[in-house]
Amino acid sequence: MKRIAVLGGGPAGAFAAERLARAGLRTVVFDEKLAWEKPCGGGITYKAYNQYPFLIDNDIPKKLVSEAFVAASGTGACRMRLSRPLVIYSRLDLNRMLLERAERAGAQIEKARVRELIRTDRGWRVRTTAGTLEADFCIIATGARNSLREVGTQWSAENVMYTLGYWVPAEQEHIDIQFLQGLEGYIWVFPRCGHLSVGIGGKGEPAAQLRRRLERFMLERGIPFKDAQFYGHMLPSLSPSAWRRNRVAGEGWLAVGDAGGLVDPITGEGLYYAIRSADLASQVVIDEAHAPAEKPWTYRSLLTWDFAADLEFGARLAKRFFLDKLLFSSVPARMVEFMRRSPRFLSVVEDLFAGTLPYQNLKERLLRNLNGTLQEILWSFFFRRLLPTETQP
Ligand SMILES: Cc1cc2nc3c(=O)[nH]c(=O)nc-3n(C[C@H](O)[C@H](O)[C@H](O)COP(=O)(O)OP(=O)(O)OC[C@H]3O[C@@H](n4cnc5c(N)ncnc54)[C@H](O)[C@@H]3O)c2cc1C
Repeated sequence: MKRIAVLGGGPAGAFAAERLARAGLRTVVFDEKLAWEKPCGGGITYKAYNQYPFLIDNDIPKKLVSEAFVAASGTGACRMRLSRPLVIYSRLDLNRMLLERAERAGAQIEKARVRELIRTDRGWRVRTTAGTLEADFCIIATGARNSLREVGTQWSAENVMYTLGYWVPAEQEHIDIQFLQGLEGYIWVFPRCGHLSVGIGGKGEPAAQLRRRLERFMLERGIPFKDAQFYGHMLPSLSPSAWRRNRVAGEGWLAVGDAGGLVDPITGEGLYYAIRSADLASQVVIDEAHAPAEKPWTYRSLLTWDFAADLEFGARLAKRFFLDKLLFSSVPARMVEFMRRSPRFLSVVEDLFAGTLPYQNLKERLLRNLNGTLQEILWSFFFRRLLPTETQP
C-alpha cells in the first residue's frame, strides 16, 4: 500500500490527511507543534461551512457573528447584517478538531519538524527531528513559513502581506473592518469565545509602521493592548504574475493551503482555500486513473478551474481596490458610502463577505444593479431622512 507523508498539520495538512487515510492510504502527518494558536482571525465564511458542514456542525467552542461594521478613513462605519454569519474559532480549537478527525480516519500523527526532503528512486526520504521515513508521495502543507526550499510557493516581498495583532481579553458581538488611507490591507476586530483577535494586514509597509497604525486605532476605540498578547505572521498575497508561475506542484508532491500561496489577495481568507485545496489534492493522489507523472498537471488544472483563476483575478483588483481613487475619494471610502446609501450595493458586499460572489462575476453583478443602485444613492442623498443610514453607535 502507498505511503503518503503530509508535511504540516494545520487545516490544509490535517484535512488532506483525513481524506487520504479514509481512502485507505497509509498516511503520516508531521507537524512540529500539532494543534496551536496560529496567528489568525479564525473566521470561516458561509462558502466554507456550506461546502464543508462539519466546519459549523460540531461541538467545539465557536462564535457565530451576524453583524459587521465596515469603515474607511474619512467615513463613518456602515452596519452590515450578515444573513449568513461568519463562524469564528480559536485556531487551537480548530486545528485540534481537524487533527482529531484525521487521526480517527486512520492517519498517523507525529509531532516532529521536517528538516529535509530527499528524492529517491521510489519517492521521498523525509528526514525529521524524530527520524527518517520513506514515502511514495508528499503533500506540502507547511504554511506560509515553509522552510523546505525545493517545494511549494517561492516567496518574495511582493507576494506576502505582513500581519500582526493582539489577542485582547475583551468581548464584543460584532466584527469591525477598518480600511486606512494608503494601506493595501485593513484592520479587523474579530470576536472569539473569551477574547478578541484584533489585527492589521498590509502589503509593502514595514511591520513597525503597521503596528503604529493598529495601536492608534485601538487607542481611538478604547481597546486595551498593553497587557494583551502580541502576534505576527505572514499571509500569502500573490501578485497577478506570481499566480501564473506559482510553484504549487511538482514530481511526487502537491502543495496545499498557504504553502501553495492559496489565499484571497483582497480579504486574506485562507481557511476555505486550505480545506478546498487539500480536498482537491487528495482526490488527485487517490485517483489511480492519473499516472504519477500526470498528478501535478491534473492538480494545477483542478485548482485553476475551481478557485485559483478567480483569486488571480482578485489579485488584479487588489491594488486598485485599496489604493485607487474614485470620485475624489479612496475606493474603500466610496464603497462604505455606497453601502450606507444603497441596499442593493450593500447586498453585493454582503455576498462578497459570505464568499458567494466570485470576483470574476463582480463587474457583471454591479452593472446589472447599476440603475437601481444609482437611484438608491440619489434618493438617499436627497431624501436622507426617508432612508436612514445605520452607523456605529
Ligand atoms: C493574522 C492572520 C489572520 C488571518 N485571518 C484569517 C481569517 O480570519 N479567515 C481565514 O479564512 N483565513 C485567515 N488567515 C489565513 C489562514 O490563517 C491561513 O490561510 C491558514 O492557516 C492556512 O492553513 P495551512 O494549513 O495551509 O497553514 P498553517 O495553518 O500555517 O499550518 C502549517 C502547519 O505546518 C507546520 N509546519 C511548518 N513547517 C513545518 C516543518 N518544517 N515541519 C513540521 N511542521 C511544520 C506548522 O507548525 C503549522 O501547524 C489569516 C492569516 C493571518 C496570518
